[in-house]
Amino acid sequence: MSTYIPDGSIRCENCNSFFNKYVRFETVIDADSYDEASQNALEGIINRVTCPYCKTEFTYENPFMLHSYSCKSIAVAAVSSELVNVSNLSVALKISGAGEWQLRRCDFARDAAEKIRIFKSGLNDAAIELIKLRQFHDYRNMDLYDEYIIFDNLIDNKLIFSLRDYTDNVKDTYEIDMSVYNNTPKLSIPTAKWIKINKRFAIKTEDKLCKRIY
Ligand SMILES: [Zn+2]
Repeated sequence: MSTYIPDGSIRCENCNSFFNKYVRFETVIDADSYDEASQNALEGIINRVTCPYCKTEFTYENPFMLHSYSCKSIAVAAVSSELVNVSNLSVALKISGAGEWQLRRCDFARDAAEKIRIFKSGLNDAAIELIKLRQFHDYRNMDLYDEYIIFDNLIDNKLIFSLRDYTDNVKDTYEIDMSVYNNTPKLSIPTAKWIKINKRFAIKTEDKLCKRIY
């Protein structure tokens, strides 16, 4: 586990005030560990700061990596493409025997946490994104900076999703039967490559699937 202390000021996501805080931020977390930091990170409670002016708590988005050996996956957030798009990375992973690892690039730490939850539940993240698009009619035009829908867990054959606001407060929760997942196309996603599987990916895929049907 490594940490990072921001040298600049932090902007509050609620009131837009700038403030300085000497907080240690996690940059790499092992999602298979049972310590508190790891469990919190898996739930998306990562690098939280509280604004001294309006008291709103939110996630400070700094480069962040969550990795899991048990589900052979790594998800990174807020990392520039130059850092992860090392051309011979897939070769290096194959040599090290990690050619089957699923690597995901995400915009936000909460999305990196969601990816690892999806993989730990044995699910396909592209199918989960398609389900969000098909089941939640507001999702296609949702501004993900204001609110978002996220996969929380798989319990008793039900996929649990929640709608959250920009400070990650839960506004609503939804249960979707596993039969919906079983009937959703499973796209095979290349391993050992940094890939973004997000709303944009789901819209592109869905539009392609629709064209094929009509
Ligand atoms: Zn504030």
